[in-house]
Amino acid sequence: MNIVVLVKQVPDTWSERKLTDADHTLDRESADAVLDEINERAVEEALLLQEAHGGEVTVVAMGPGRATDAIRKALSMGADKAVHVSDESLHGSDVLTTAKVLAKAIGTVEGFDLVIAGNEATDGRAGAIPAILAELLGLPQVTQVRKLSVEGGVIKAERETDEGLAFIEANLPAVVSVTEKINEPRYPSFKGIMAAKKKPVSTLTVADLGLDAGEVGLGAAWSQVLEAAPKPPRSAGQRVEDSGDGGSKIAEYLVGQKLI
Ligand SMILES: Cc1cc2nc3c(=O)[nH]c(=O)nc-3n(C[C@H](O)[C@H](O)[C@H](O)COP(=O)(O)OP(=O)(O)OC[C@H]3O[C@@H](n4cnc5c(N)ncnc54)[C@H](O)[C@@H]3O)c2cc1C
Repeated sequence: MNIVVLVKQVPDTWSERKLTDADHTLDRESADAVLDEINERAVEEALLLQEAHGGEVTVVAMGPGRATDAIRKALSMGADKAVHVSDESLHGSDVLTTAKVLAKAIGTVEGFDLVIAGNEATDGRAGAIPAILAELLGLPQVTQVRKLSVEGGVIKAERETDEGLAFIEANLPAVVSVTEKINEPRYPSFKGIMAAKKKPVSTLTVADLGLDAGEVGLGAAWSQVLEAAPKPPRSAGQRVEDSGDGGSKIAEYLVGQKLI
């Protein structure tokens, strides 16, 4: 099994996340950056499959120079090698471009059987990359997976949505996205952290992938953020004193808010 895991470095959920004034893209410098937790689970699932079936796990990431920290974390968990697409021209890339670049980067991994991604990144939150990738690569897609196994060239997956569960099979190679229910990711061991320093990371530019700088980045995005404002702080709630008429006061309040 040759498995590719897509990992994204995102601003830590505990840091303040904001957009730059200049072009309204994510201000990566203002926040601590971490390997997205959903991608830790994607790496864990790849490692579990590798333990069961053998093979190799390759991490693929598109991101600026500092994304190497997220890549090293995935390698310290146990992944074998990595492909890092890093190029100034990628700044501000939209979902379609990101998927196009990732598809090209996956194409550099010889004989891959399975691509595992998170279902949704915690910053962009498009939840669209895995589906677009499957389309670009011409592969079956199984998204929102909470349980996964492989038997003789076929993946068997439990897909969970708000409507219920679906049990899906697809021939390999395929693209899978996982939810937070898939597993509990392992912590990198000290040995794993030391070993990760020596694992191969191939750094590629847009040109290395056969793409032109004009095809990617903010200028090539199909949509742009024109304006952004922080969420207003929560206002204090309204306190209702009950002097026997509390129920009516609450009902009046809810009617006033058009909630009932
Ligand atoms: C401030 C801001 C402004 C934005 N403006 C726009 C805009 O105007 N138009 C627009 O179309 N998009 C915009 N985006 C979305 C941005 O382009 C996406 O973050 C990016 O393209 C990938 O989408 P996503 O992270 O939402 O992916 P999702 O589809 O939510 O990610 C699912 C999974 O795909 C994989 N994945 C995603 N990105 C990567 C990556 N870089 N490297 C490796 N694996 C990855 C991971 O496994 C991830 O768990 C904006 C994002 C931000 C933060």
